[in-house]
Amino acid sequence: MGYATCVYCGRYLSAAGTDPKGSSTAGAERGKKLPVCLDCRRSKRDRPLTLWLRMLKKKDRMRWERIVKYHSRKMGGQITLEVKRVERER
Ligand SMILES: [Zn+2]
Repeated sequence: MGYATCVYCGRYLSAAGTDPKGSSTAGAERGKKLPVCLDCRRSKRDRPLTLWLRMLKKKDRMRWERIVKYHSRKMGGQITLEVKRVERER
């Protein structure tokens, strides 16, 4: 049995990374359940993905760079495409 990884930053979700109610869905897009680490969930809240990524790019370089690095190894996928799109923005 593998561990889920955060769809945004690629971190493995430990027990500490999921909330006690067993819901790690606060970062879900369009009602889909996605595994999201506590840090990303706290940071993103209910912001739309694109706005959150732009905010990170400006204000949270460490997380932004972790996310970019994680998604640079991935192909396709809505989140990956969005990360790459925001990365190209000036
Ligand atoms: Zn994360």
